[in-house]
Amino acid sequence: MHSHIERILWSEDQISRRVFELAAEISDDFGGHSPAPVVVGVATGAFLFLADLVRKIDLSIAVDFVRVESYSSGTVSNGAPTISFDLKVDVNSRHVIVVEDIVDTGHTLSKVIEHLKSKGASSVSVCTFLDKPARRKVHFQLVGEGKYYRGFECPNYFVVGYGLDFAELYRNLPYIGVLKPELYK
Ligand code: 5GP
Repeated sequence: MHSHIERILWSEDQISRRVFELAAEISDDFGGHSPAPVVVGVATGAFLFLADLVRKIDLSIAVDFVRVESYSSGTVSNGAPTISFDLKVDVNSRHVIVVEDIVDTGHTLSKVIEHLKSKGASSVSVCTFLDKPARRKVHFQLVGEGKYYRGFECPNYFVVGYGLDFAELYRNLPYIGVLKPELYK
C-alpha cells in the first residue's frame, strides 16, 4: 500500500496538530450556542477526520452522517451528486457543521448544503480537511451565520489516505499522499 504513494503531503503528526487547531476554533466559535451544533459527516471519506475532530471538540454536539454519490468511477466527479443515505437527527432550527474530506469542484458540498437548508437548518458551516480551490466549478453558499473552516489547501493532485480513497482502497493510510498516476491512468 505505501509503495503506491509517490510522496506524502501531510504526515500523521501534521494532521493531528491541524485537527486540534480546527477543533479549538470550532469549540470557541460555537461555545455560546444552545443547543450545540449537529456535526454532519459526509460518508465515507470524512470518517477519519470526523472521528478525530469530534473527539477534540469541547461541546455537547450531536453527530450524524449523510452519504452522497458523486463519483461513478475513477478520479473525476460526474457533476450530479445525489443524497443516497439521509440524516437521522432532526436539524430543523439547529446549527449544522458539515464535515468533508475534500472540496474539489464543489458539487458535493453544494448538494449537501442545499439539502440541509431544505431541512430547516438555521445555519450551515463547513469544515473540510482539504480544499482544492483551483478546481472549483460551483460556488457554494453557506447558510445563515455559517463559517468555513479548512485544514489545508491541497495542490491539484489526486490524493489518498486519511479517509480518501481510490476505488475504495487507501482510506486507512494515516497520512495524505499523492497516488502514483500510473495506478489510475
Ligand atoms: P466535488 O463534488 O467537490 O468535486 O468532490 C468531492 C468529492 O470528490 C470528495 O468528497 C472526494 O470523495 C472526491 N475527491 C475529490 N478530489 C479528490 C482527491 O484528490 N482524492 C480523492 N481520493 N477523492 C477526491
